[in-house]
Amino acid sequence: MCATCGCGDDAGTRVTALHDHHQTPDQTPGQHVHDHEHAHDHEPPHTHPPVSTAAGTRTIELEHQVLAKNDLLAARNRGWLDGRRICALNMMSSPGSGKTSLLVRTIRKLRDQREVAVIEGDQETLLDAERIRETGARVVQINTGAGCHLDAEMLARGLRMLDPTAGSLLFVENVGNLVCPALFDLGETAKVVVISVTEGNDKPLKYPHMFAAADVVVINKTDLLPYVDFDIDVCAARARMVNRDLEVLPLSVTSGAGLDGWYAWLGGI
Ligand code: MG
Repeated sequence: MCATCGCGDDAGTRVTALHDHHQTPDQTPGQHVHDHEHAHDHEPPHTHPPVSTAAGTRTIELEHQVLAKNDLLAARNRGWLDGRRICALNMMSSPGSGKTSLLVRTIRKLRDQREVAVIEGDQETLLDAERIRETGARVVQINTGAGCHLDAEMLARGLRMLDPTAGSLLFVENVGNLVCPALFDLGETAKVVVISVTEGNDKPLKYPHMFAAADVVVINKTDLLPYVDFDIDVCAARARMVNRDLEVLPLSVTSGAGLDGWYAWLGGI
């Protein structure tokens, strides 16, 4: 199960339930029994800040370090990548924002200047990897099944299979989802968030963790601006409310408008 949201079924990860629980004498610290009658461990143990109650609602805050194992593996990935001077970009977005299309166009632009490789993350299918393969770039697909994000262990497995060339540019296309991928450090060089003008400019406020974690935000599909209610300046301002120095790059993969800014950003990292 996904350690954060419980939407997966990967035996290698664990569940964190957002409910109040109490230790009983026959339980060891860090272990508790849920009302669905199984016990599991939290690794490492977490602490329990106060529960607050107000006007018919109750907020339970859990401070935990269930991501500690992931962070350790991410640090290993980062060292491995740094040692080979590989720039790895974690591409995160909602489904349908145009991540794969952006990668296809970027690879075609850069392939004569720099070796580019891709690790594709999706719940199912090889469809995106097949699109990347058509560009001639090396690509590995990771299918997460019911899982909603890539984690550092998955990336390590992908890296072993892909074995990217020293000095190359590596795109890691995460599972389409603006929630969990923000929480899982992969050991990447930078995090890129891609949104599109069809999604609404309130996404930075609704999913602040994603935008807080980002190094740059790409706003794709600007060719559709005449047909949708989307204000780029409002979206950028909202993104900078959660991440003050965030760079915002409006562009259209379809028309090519704004892509020079994207290539310039890639050239600077
Ligand atoms: Mg894709």
